[in-house]
Amino acid sequence: VIDTNPLRRLNEEIFTYATKKQQEIDELKKLENFRKEFLANVSHELKTPIFAAQGFIHTLIDGAVDDKNVRDKFLDKAARSLDGLDALVQDLLTLSQMETGDIKMRYEKFDIRQLTAEVFEQLEEKADAKRIRLRFNKGNQGTVWAYADVQRIGQVMTNLIDNAIKYGREDGRVLVSFDSEKDHLLVAVKDDGPGIEPEHLKRIFERFYRIEKSRSKDKGGTGLGLAIVKHIIEAHRSKVSVTSKMGKGTTFIFKLDKGEGKN
Ligand code: ADP
Repeated sequence: VIDTNPLRRLNEEIFTYATKKQQEIDELKKLENFRKEFLANVSHELKTPIFAAQGFIHTLIDGAVDDKNVRDKFLDKAARSLDGLDALVQDLLTLSQMETGDIKMRYEKFDIRQLTAEVFEQLEEKADAKRIRLRFNKGNQGTVWAYADVQRIGQVMTNLIDNAIKYGREDGRVLVSFDSEKDHLLVAVKDDGPGIEPEHLKRIFERFYRIEKSRSKDKGGTGLGLAIVKHIIEAHRSKVSVTSKMGKGTTFIFKLDKGEGKN
């Protein structure tokens, strides 16, 4: 009788090996597709503001410059397009630096309540235009120590609060809460805007993902804000999550190390 066990084992090994290789190939293909799609997206997003600015400037050159009203309006529009382009390039740079690991996290102890107040101050004009106020769950006094990269967390708060204002309702409010959880600090940014539908909710952290593209674009976004937020929080070895209720509002939550006891 021939012992077929070694053969069977060899066969199994080959099968396992082949399956693993196939998975690796699938993974590489996915990555390659992702790259292609990303490049196409970037090119498209860059072209849009360039095209717009070009259009306004050429119309001016072709004679519109003689009418003062038209001239001012078109120059303003061209400038806005270029501002949008600038923001987009800045966001792309941040994303790529985060991904290549060129940015080292610089941990320090800072007052995140004060940082949040400063961020809101910078966005005050936008907030005032919609009469949106900032509230803290623990009032406006006292320090809340966090231990993280203060610049990067400033960017996270800027992106989240900017969204809360952009997509929030008029006369609304942005509630920022800080809660202690063992050795962690739980940060939540909550708006009382229209909310995000479940089908979109799971995709909003993707690069360039926007709900109702044209409407979001009117509000001057790059579609990269939340992708950057996710990256920064993950670089802090943490996670960001989102919950939303239609007609009630949206809440973004993440954990940071507490600053107490740190230098
Ligand atoms: P954008 O630059 O377009 O704001 P983001 O990555 O910051 O890009 O957000 C992605 C999309 O998620 C936005 O275009 C918007 O449709 C939606 N979104 C983000 N934050 C909120 C929010 N607080 N309320 C409702 N929709 C939001």
